[in-house]
Amino acid sequence: THFGFKTVNEHEKEKLVAGVFHSVAAKYDVMNDLMSFGVHRAWKRYTIEMSGVRTGHRVLDIAGGTGDLSFAFSRRVGPTGKVVLADINESMLKVGRDRLADRGVAGNLDVVQANAEVLPFPDDEFNVVTIAFGLRNVTHKDVALKEMLRVLKPGGRLLVLEFSKPTNDLLSKAYDTYSFKALPVMGKLVTQDADSYQYLAESIRKHPDQDTLQQMMYDAGFERVTYHNLTGGIVALHRGVKA
Ligand code: SAM
Repeated sequence: THFGFKTVNEHEKEKLVAGVFHSVAAKYDVMNDLMSFGVHRAWKRYTIEMSGVRTGHRVLDIAGGTGDLSFAFSRRVGPTGKVVLADINESMLKVGRDRLADRGVAGNLDVVQANAEVLPFPDDEFNVVTIAFGLRNVTHKDVALKEMLRVLKPGGRLLVLEFSKPTNDLLSKAYDTYSFKALPVMGKLVTQDADSYQYLAESIRKHPDQDTLQQMMYDAGFERVTYHNLTGGIVALHRGVKA
């Protein structure tokens, strides 16, 4: 399936994901705050801390959507650094571009439409690559992880922020109820689109757990892969280094 042919299921998944993000783009930021009670901001701050980003660094924020991480990185790397906000979906990028214009972040941020599986960048280009709440939407995660490794400089870091597996049974049950009952209802109220939030709940349940993702990163060629559970493992931050 990596030779240009796609199975029906792969094709369906791509169409589904594209539809979901076209549909939610305009309300995406509001929904993020609502659904996570604002906690996604803390998860993202932690990601930036763990990235080790410094002035002058080059950063790629893949599946960057409306740009939360990219804007924070843009301030960190300063005028001598560079940040690329990349996403496959033009509706999400449009919201990102509009926010960028409002905030007027100094000219160190590029916006690029790109698929995580085929990154349009040379080898050894970035000090830091991030993908936040994006990997679970990617069809060939192994291919995407190898691409992220390729574009990192030796010594560079990948950070994967993603929903994961709650470490405690009670929390796990409560969270399941929340995501399958409350999320679609909230989604419908705010975006008139319950199906997209149903997809979200399902994609979270299907996503690999902490140890599986750690192994996937090793398999792709990353070294010193570690992870930190956030909010009881509802979310995990994985970090790997390119040798
Ligand atoms: N990173 C942002 C954040 O944390 O707020 C956005 C996350 S949003 C839940 C997921 C994003 O992944 C969407 O903007 C979607 O368009 C993007 N995406 C899905 N599949 C992708 C792919 N194959 N390559 C690049 N981006 C993709």
